[in-house]
Amino acid sequence: MSIANKKNEYVIGIDIGGTNFRIGGILRNGSLISEPSKYSSREMFENGSPLDILIHAISDFIDSFPSYVLKGICIGFPGTVDLSKETVISCPNLPSFTNINISVPLEKTFHVPVVAEHDVLLLLSHDIKEQHLENANCIISFYIGTGLGNGIYIHDRFLDGKNGVAGELGHIPVYGKKDLCPCGNNGCIELFCAGKALEQLQTDHLSDVPFSEIFTYYKQTPELSQYLDFMAIAISTEINILDPVYIILSGGVIHMKNFPYSELCQKIHHFTRKPYPANSLNFIKGSNNPFSGILGAGAYMWNKLNKQNKEDTK
Ligand SMILES: [Zn+2]
Repeated sequence: MSIANKKNEYVIGIDIGGTNFRIGGILRNGSLISEPSKYSSREMFENGSPLDILIHAISDFIDSFPSYVLKGICIGFPGTVDLSKETVISCPNLPSFTNINISVPLEKTFHVPVVAEHDVLLLLSHDIKEQHLENANCIISFYIGTGLGNGIYIHDRFLDGKNGVAGELGHIPVYGKKDLCPCGNNGCIELFCAGKALEQLQTDHLSDVPFSEIFTYYKQTPELSQYLDFMAIAISTEINILDPVYIILSGGVIHMKNFPYSELCQKIHHFTRKPYPANSLNFIKGSNNPFSGILGAGAYMWNKLNKQNKEDTK
């Protein structure tokens, strides 16, 4: 195939969050074909078969770019996905996808490779590409939004474990805590250090302050310092296990106005083993681009296709 033709090749990246559904086309060079589209996930998947709705949205997207050639589709879910990257295992915010095989019916319809993946690994793909971290042998990432998302990149691949669900740091238990987590267990640490805990903290202690402003009152609010302690304990636990080269901190909470980023880094240092890894921590603030999930899906899919090509030509 000529290089001129390759310029028209693209992959579709889809980011299905609990709130928004975003879809975009990504060229081989990493740029977007056009401004991605955004819909409400809840309205979109409220009724009907989630697969039919997904197929319909993808068909519409493909039809609007007739001069481009589709090479693959990568879809990020806010939940766990099986080792084959075909089936959603657990997705509490979008329960209609639970136990649905995504790849097989979509590959039959669109005749290109289709990958389903945990959304945090797509965010991590985007951050690795944007910050040129591909050669680091261990990167750990924390996306703190509704929950505590965690992605691990180690020795040139994403850690997936036996079942495809490695990196569920948000669900390590806190001794003595009984609160019920959407995962079904009690006392998971993300209940105390992510978005839902922050909303509760505002209700209990800062009800006169708009949610987006609460970190402005960090110094006067000891409960916010305790909230950061939970976050730092979870993160330093993984640092102590893996001794990573880079630690990416990102997600909606981290990017909030006046978030005490340096205080968080100090607390993580405090809880980490001395002298190492504590004395060599490299923190990186991740991207705050609302399209990171789509761009990351594109980077992930192109990497997979390029690796596949290399295997095929061996
Ligand atoms: Zn849990």
